[in-house]
Amino acid sequence: MIFDGHSDILYGMNQKRQQGEADVFRRCYEKWFRQGQVEGCIAVLWSNPDMAVPAAVQVTQQLQTLKQELEVCGDEITLLRSADDLVQAQQQGSIYFLLGVEGLDGCPQNEARIDWLYEQGVRHVGLTWNGANDFAGGVHTGDGLTDLGRRAVRRIQKKRMLLDVSHLNDGSLRDVLLVADGPVIASHSNCRRLCDVPRNLTDDQIKAIAATGGLIGINSYPSFIASAREKQDLQHLTDHLVHAAELVGTEHVGLGLDLNYWAEDGTTAELPELQQYQKAEALLQLMEQRGFAKEEIRQVCRDNFLRLLQGALA
Ligand SMILES: [Zn+2]
Repeated sequence: MIFDGHSDILYGMNQKRQQGEADVFRRCYEKWFRQGQVEGCIAVLWSNPDMAVPAAVQVTQQLQTLKQELEVCGDEITLLRSADDLVQAQQQGSIYFLLGVEGLDGCPQNEARIDWLYEQGVRHVGLTWNGANDFAGGVHTGDGLTDLGRRAVRRIQKKRMLLDVSHLNDGSLRDVLLVADGPVIASHSNCRRLCDVPRNLTDDQIKAIAATGGLIGINSYPSFIASAREKQDLQHLTDHLVHAAELVGTEHVGLGLDLNYWAEDGTTAELPELQQYQKAEALLQLMEQRGFAKEEIRQVCRDNFLRLLQGALA
């Protein structure tokens, strides 16, 4: 079984609902999860800066979409609010979402927004997407953590929400690690040693994240796997898993597959070999061929994230 540390499914479901579709999860996405044996994911609220709709409104729409989807398929999806919810979902075979937020855009000058998000069920926070906001700088900017960002980091960790540094620029990541007092994750970032893009992590950053008790989730987004197009495949994705595991041990590595929910027909995989999740089994087989023991595969593909989820839900 697989746990996916980063999913934009709420964005995809909301796009379809805004176009008048209903019962979206069951009709469009459930089969991806079932066929790929993906039992749960961190499902993030993400506001697209290219849309005319303000960030705060996009987040509100996505929350409303989640609520409406839960009303029609409450057996198929569980929104996790407690450790008991996780146990129950696993027993019932219900696909579970840990609700997260990818970027605190739309919450200017106000860390109290974090309390509001928590009340909505959010248990995971990334401070920024690629741009900068009042809290921190993303990979397209040169800014570090602001004073408000420092207070936010403390508030997030006091509430035991998962703190996610994927998308932060190097200065902001450094600053978060100085302030953080608990596990930090990079839910969907690869190894910069193998693919030198700002969204990936240096060896030192990976070690520092592991030292907090956190993990890095390896991302299937092609241009984070390799710069050469012919190397953007599952073999080279596995290279990132091997490298990260050699650096910090398999207990600090996970999967944050970051599938594409933008395609008009909802069927185009970023990485065709994965066919969304439906061919995820191939990744597990490759890991075995590359020397991961069965127990290590279980850790990387599921258990490491679950250990952190249990901390966030305690
Ligand atoms: Zn992302």
